[in-house]
Order: sequence, then structure tokens, then C-alpha cells
Amino acid sequence: MSDCLFCKIIAGEIPAPRVYSDDQVIVIPDINPKAPAHLLVIPRQHLASLDALTPAEDGLIAHIMRLLPKLAQEQGLPNGFRTVINTGRGGGQEIFHLHIHLLGGTPLPGF
Ligand code: AMP
Repeated sequence: MSDCLFCKIIAGEIPAPRVYSDDQVIVIPDINPKAPAHLLVIPRQHLASLDALTPAEDGLIAHIMRLLPKLAQEQGLPNGFRTVINTGRGGGQEIFHLHIHLLGGTPLPGF
């Protein structure tokens, strides 16, 4: 997607520090962190949101779910972490390329 910010970051057209990357995802710090640790796990494949998922992405989603606790451990979050996926404008999604927020490093309020 030529006008997608995260596609441009994945392509290296816009710089962003990579905390982790593999053949399926990149992980970058959120530019406006909401907690001391705030990462974004971004699939390399352009998927607009959870609404775009099909069974073809089942392996990708499993990969991300299993990666999240490893990233949290690497970030030094032994007491836990929060994951957030905003979906659609009503869900607060601002960038329409699927991404998972990983937050921690301070006690997070309930909601
Ligand atoms: P969402 O509301 O779930 O779509 O979240 C989009 C997130 O992307 C926000 O938390 C932004 O702070 C973050 N963001 C926007 N631009 C960048 C960027 N260039 N690098 C890293 N994070 C970004």
C-alpha cells in the first residue's frame, strides 16, 4: 500500500528503530509511548485491521501471539504486560495497517 505509513517503515522508506524483525513481522517502539515500554508488532503483510484476517493468516497470528511474551521478557517486564489491538475508527484505530500494541513497565490501570 503506497500510502501506508507502516508499509513505508517496513520498506525502509521511513526510518524507525527495529527492536526485532523476522520474515513475518517487525517490532518498533511507539513514537508516542503510553507506558515506559510501548512496542508495536507490525506484520510485514499489509492487512488493514483484524477485520481483514482470513484463515490464510492463522499462522501469522499464532506467530505473533507466541512472540509477544518473548518480547515482554526481553523488555524486562516480568510482572506482566498489556496487549491492545484497536480495530476501526470506533475502536480508536489511527493507522490502518494491523498492529499489536505491547505496553508495560508501570502498573497499568484497569478498564
Ligand atoms: P492505533 O491507534 O492503534 O492505530 O495506533 C497507532 C500508533 O502508531 C499510535 O500509538 C502512534 O503513536 C503510533 N505511531 C504513529 N506514527 C508512528 C511512527 N512513525 N513510528 C512509531 N509509531 C508511530
